[in-house]
Amino acid sequence: MKLLVTGGAGYVGSNCSARLVEAGHEVVVVDDLSTGHADAVPEGCRLIQADFADVASTVLGEGFDGVLHFAAKSLVGESMQDPAKYWHGNVVTTLRLLDAMREHGTPRLVFSSTAAVYGEPDEVPIPETAPTRPTNTYGATKLAVDHMITSYAAAHGLAAVSLRYFNVAGAQGRYGERHATETHLIPLVLQVATGQREHIQVFGDDWPTEDGTCIRDYIHVTDLADAHLLAIENATAGKHAIYNLGNGTGFSVLQVIEACREATGHEIPAKVAPRRAGDPAVLVASSERARTELGWKPERADIATIVQDAWAFTQSR
Ligand code: UDP
Repeated sequence: MKLLVTGGAGYVGSNCSARLVEAGHEVVVVDDLSTGHADAVPEGCRLIQADFADVASTVLGEGFDGVLHFAAKSLVGESMQDPAKYWHGNVVTTLRLLDAMREHGTPRLVFSSTAAVYGEPDEVPIPETAPTRPTNTYGATKLAVDHMITSYAAAHGLAAVSLRYFNVAGAQGRYGERHATETHLIPLVLQVATGQREHIQVFGDDWPTEDGTCIRDYIHVTDLADAHLLAIENATAGKHAIYNLGNGTGFSVLQVIEACREATGHEIPAKVAPRRAGDPAVLVASSERARTELGWKPERADIATIVQDAWAFTQSR
């Protein structure tokens, strides 16, 4: 297939583009490089440096079989301080993309959604049928896009899949996490091991969990990329399928730090800090639907493997 990847110079987008190329698809990346890196775009992909919303109509006019839409604003804290940036950057722009797809009859869409659409869960592991009550603007904008996609699929026959990621981590070769503003636990912990940071802050040790720290479901970015390949290849016209992507096993902040100590051989000092606003205590995915319907099977689910691969990437920089 000929596929357009928005945000293909970013962490998840570059890993997924590499997987699509490896599977034999033709990939065109559109990325404004506001947070992505041109050297992260895999070989064999054409890069168009632009805001996807501005060029979608022109580029899709070339004729594409599908779009994988990664480009988005994704900092939870910033989304609360500057909501307009998120409603415009995630919702208005995606509406323009959907309209351009409609205009040119682009048949398939895979959208990067998030576990943040669920907010504080009533039950874990979280199924796709759980209530969606996002606790931050970032999650609310992703949920709004999911709703837009549902109605476009029903009315216009779009074959659409939303993938709701839990905590993406790990790396594959030169495709790893390198954000100018880093907020994610594993890369921050590894910055302590490289000496860029003196210690890691643990946001709360009085949560209702066994060791008192928050529990999250970490998924390897290469397993995530496999799910995108299955999603675009199996999308069904007129249907908007929604899948959670996680390993179904949670690890606490302290367990992640311990895994990083083992992978790096560094003592990694940790200091308890206040809870971070908006953090649920436990977020673990049920990915049964992705396993059953897409035949997806995570291959690198072990936290030690995830951390080792992230560390190999960090050391290669
Ligand atoms: N966390 C932490 N210290 C940090 C960064 C994150 O204790 O410096 C915790 C955070 O409170 C959450 C978990 O690590 O419980 C994962 O956070 P991250 O920002 O990586 O992902 P999120 O779950 O917010 O998507």
